[in-house]
Amino acid sequence: MKAVFLPGDRRVEIRAVEVPKPGPGEVLIAVKASCICRSDLSLYYGNAVISGGGQCITGHEPAGVVAETGPGVKAFRTGDRVAVYLGIGCGVCEYCRMGNFHLCATWRCIGFTANGGNAEYIVVPERNCLRIPDSMSFVAAAISTDAFGTLYSACRKLRVDGSAFVGIWGLGPMGSAGVLAAKALGGRVVVFDPIHDRRDFATKLGADLALDPGAADVRERVEAFAGGQGLDCAIDCSGSGAAQNMALDLIRPLGRVAFIGESRETTIRPSEQLIRKQATLIGSWYFNIAEYDEIVRVLTEQKIDLEQLATHRFGLDEAETAFRLFDERKTEKAVFVL
Ligand SMILES: [Zn+2]
Ligand SMILES: [Zn+2]
Repeated sequence: MKAVFLPGDRRVEIRAVEVPKPGPGEVLIAVKASCICRSDLSLYYGNAVISGGGQCITGHEPAGVVAETGPGVKAFRTGDRVAVYLGIGCGVCEYCRMGNFHLCATWRCIGFTANGGNAEYIVVPERNCLRIPDSMSFVAAAISTDAFGTLYSACRKLRVDGSAFVGIWGLGPMGSAGVLAAKALGGRVVVFDPIHDRRDFATKLGADLALDPGAADVRERVEAFAGGQGLDCAIDCSGSGAAQNMALDLIRPLGRVAFIGESRETTIRPSEQLIRKQATLIGSWYFNIAEYDEIVRVLTEQKIDLEQLATHRFGLDEAETAFRLFDERKTEKAVFVL
């Protein structure tokens, strides 16, 4: 089968590899859709955000059809439609038992340290399969995991509801999915991105206000938007220090901030931005596997169209073009469709 590898230095290699066999408790999935994510670019450049990444088949956001089940598989059978949870945990530690496989001390991440979904087939443990309804397309299912699921989980942790004014920084696929998630929970949403087209796209998705973070009157416009006060909730998807600080500066007292965009180092002003406001700053990463049923329910009940985030679709053979355009920020979600 064909599989996409990113060995670094912006090289994209499509290699022919054996179709894997599912072992005990594992399933073989015929991949139908697999998304490119900003975190994949760390592999593309050669400085993986998940240490040890770079040797495996890429792709941590796949969806497809169960093609074969290994011995002892109980809940899934050939033909089932599934998305895939990216963290493969030990299954028995405290974090695995609570559904946070990605917090397990011995976890592996598909697409980084375990073979991923940018291939014709992928093998994962049965417990990593996320059942999807017939009404959900494979492209939507792939987007429902890391993109929508991560932002939905962050919005829930920040207690976004109908009374919340929510700011979102960085309008790549994560931030755009955040607009859909925050609106689904009833929030009033202001977005920040220097790229005009991305602000327009967020507005089409339902953002109530879109601002260039470099504009001189940002604070005034945010306060006018939020009833004369700061924001209740803020989510940084960009990972830039300037955006992280702007998020902390623009929340009101008792406000809540989540950092989602990968970021190795930043400087903040704790007294002014956190202590004096009694603000809460959290890191949020992916979602608890038990949240996925709720994610599907919200997407289905509210008829949220995740396919609109997939601005570009590619075959596996076009992987080089796909990663280049994604790297150049020419796409929102770029998806391999098989
Ligand atoms: Zn991702
Ligand atoms: Zn574990």
